[in-house]
Amino acid sequence: MQKKTVQDYIRTIPDFPHKGIMFRDVTTLFADARGMRLCVDQLLAPWAGEEIDAVAGLEARGFILGGAVAHQLGCGFVPIRKKGKLPGATFEQEYVLEYGTATVEVHRDALPAGARVLLVDDLLATGGTAKAGISLLERLGAEVVGCAFVVDLPELGGRRALEEMQMQIHTLCD
Ligand code: AMP
Repeated sequence: MQKKTVQDYIRTIPDFPHKGIMFRDVTTLFADARGMRLCVDQLLAPWAGEEIDAVAGLEARGFILGGAVAHQLGCGFVPIRKKGKLPGATFEQEYVLEYGTATVEVHRDALPAGARVLLVDDLLATGGTAKAGISLLERLGAEVVGCAFVVDLPELGGRRALEEMQMQIHTLCD
């Protein structure tokens, strides 16, 4: 019997949180010991053995994945949070959602200038969230060496948008 792939551990819940959205639920991947390890190992594979100073994770599922990737790479972790959650002085970046806008923040002193950072999240759709994260990291003076996502929804254009910024994108399934 074929061993399960990362994709096999992810379930799709229709019409969540709104009608018409096919929600990719990675909690079933995270809950499985083999699935989680497979996913983390595959996410960091392009950067294994490279000099990475920190992993930045996008709230909230990017925290779970990013923390595990940082542990494995032997580097620190920087959270990029929704507005109003970080206690210190922050930079903030607004971005466009399907309905309205959202804002993410990072601590101004999260990284030294020139730090080489890998950005991690569970899913790439329009790329708006990732672009906001990249913009914050660049305001810190960091070098974003790439972005790793478990799921890519290429029809929503995120991959294209990030590749147009010359960003290295790594995804595990669609
Ligand atoms: P986007 O900014 O459009 O690339 O959306 C990516 C962010 O929204 C990620 O943090 C995802 O967790 C979340 N997201 C967007 N679409 C979905 C989906 N279909 N299933 C699960 N999460 C999603």
